[in-house]
Amino acid sequence: MSYKYLDALVVGAGVSGLYQLYKLREAGLTVTAVESAPDVGGTWYWNAYPGCRVDSPANIYQYWFSQELLDDWEWSERFPAQPEIKRYLQHVANRFDLYSSIELDTRVVSAHWKEQEGRWHVTTEAGLVYAAKYLVSCVGLLSTPKVLSFPNQEVFQGQVYHTAKWPQEPVDLKGLRVGVIGNGATGIQVIQTLAPEVAELTSFQRTPQYAVRMKNYAVDEKIMAEWRADYPRLSQLVHNTFGGFPWDPAEEGHAATLTIEQRREVLEECWADGSLRMFVGTFPEVLVDPVMNEEVTEFVREKIRVQINDPDLAQKLIPRDHGYGLRRVPLENGYYEAFNQSNVHLVDIKATPIDGFSERGLVVGGEEYPLDALIMATGFDAGTGTLSRMGVEGRDGKSLTALWRDDIRTTLGLQVHGFPNLFLVGGPLSPIAAFCNVQTCAQQQVDWVTDAILNVVNSGKSTMEPTAEREEEWVQHHDEVANETLMMTIDSWYTGANIEGKQRRLLSYIGGAHVYRELCDEIQAQGYPGFSIE
Ligand code: NAP
Repeated sequence: MSYKYLDALVVGAGVSGLYQLYKLREAGLTVTAVESAPDVGGTWYWNAYPGCRVDSPANIYQYWFSQELLDDWEWSERFPAQPEIKRYLQHVANRFDLYSSIELDTRVVSAHWKEQEGRWHVTTEAGLVYAAKYLVSCVGLLSTPKVLSFPNQEVFQGQVYHTAKWPQEPVDLKGLRVGVIGNGATGIQVIQTLAPEVAELTSFQRTPQYAVRMKNYAVDEKIMAEWRADYPRLSQLVHNTFGGFPWDPAEEGHAATLTIEQRREVLEECWADGSLRMFVGTFPEVLVDPVMNEEVTEFVREKIRVQINDPDLAQKLIPRDHGYGLRRVPLENGYYEAFNQSNVHLVDIKATPIDGFSERGLVVGGEEYPLDALIMATGFDAGTGTLSRMGVEGRDGKSLTALWRDDIRTTLGLQVHGFPNLFLVGGPLSPIAAFCNVQTCAQQQVDWVTDAILNVVNSGKSTMEPTAEREEEWVQHHDEVANETLMMTIDSWYTGANIEGKQRRLLSYIGGAHVYRELCDEIQAQGYPGFSIE
């Protein structure tokens, strides 16, 4: 075994890992980041599937820490495609010389807390052990793909892909018969992108989706100058809104003071923005009040219905069994209209589940659908998937995997009792990913984690860990807020229901990213009450 001694080890070099590495290194700590991929980018490295693009506007999907970076990076679109976001993250890694502190192609296989030494021993697949005082997980919330397997898969002569493990080299599907399983944000992007170029596209749909029309546009010099002039305002604003975006829903109770026509005007305005404003910028009651939810749901159904020529098909593509906004709202650009094309087909696999593969394709209810390629856009073991597969053992050998198997708990998504000096960015039970623009909340958490580590260092102490009581208090508060929403009644990755056997708990905090940020700031200002620092 070869050992490398560090102050801090960061796991992951995506959106949060790059910034965490930068911050700790700037603070003077010896720090390395390890990344399993051959390059930086995280989600934006792996999800190289056709049509992948961000659905937060680029002017807020960026780092705020460097004026030079803000000055020199040019965005090309309001919602850039995956290669551009990947290039941006590579540019950041180059510009701030982060590559020199990143070990690529390096997968962590275990992380054990050594009480005597006061260090984490983090072992890589290659057998190197990093002995680090602080371990910061930046592994992402949506980074362990959910891969399906079906009977007879080995006999299938075509190719099988998962969107989150897409090959880095171009895959030419033109003129082929392609099947897609999955109609979440990912499947929607794949289907609308491939429909015009493949010979036949068959969508094997289990649950339809309410998707909102994305209003994308090219960013020319004039828009870029306007964006730049607005950066100082935006960089503050995003930290003061419910979802880390530059817009907020109406005040609670306001909807009830409006007529149905006036509420419709608000919805029309949000819809016209062509963004997730239609998700987090309407009325807060949508997520808690079934009557208000139905009103907004019917508005969205109308918007979708007019895009689909065949009324029978519209029935199948428009959800009936759940309300709008209770699962992650995807943005689309031609998704429903793709089904008007004669080469695009819909197979309802809820009514008739997939039997398995044949040599030539997929078999559903005894009927064979010939395919040259099958794309699984089947999502992720979200929130806990990656960290609970990393062999993390804290004080007295306490296993994070075992803990989270029964009870997914953290303190503010930032630390876990029993795991001293383990810090999480993007951990479960914080707003990130599900209810916050990732860039906003990742930066807020990285800043908090950095300050917390420096507080331990500067106060001459060695460890920081939440108390059991503080953790219980947070979990209870998290659940109370979650249980007030209609989301808990719905099966989705938000509630862990997409993974068999997973505990049903809302994976992200839904009390508001701004509320969460204020609480984190307060904890820091008060010297970290509820955390033992020894
Ligand atoms: P997802 O929302 O979990 O969707 C997975 C899809 O696969 C669903 O349609 C699901 O059907 C289907 N599926 C799963 N297991 C299945 C099974 N055993 N049999 C048949 N169908 C099955 O995953 P995702 O689309 O990858 O999106 C995950 C999240 O990533 C999004 O919610 C979003 O937060 C993020 N994302 C963001 C962007 C963006 O910024 N533009 C793009 C893509 C993804 P059921 O619904 O019936 O389970």
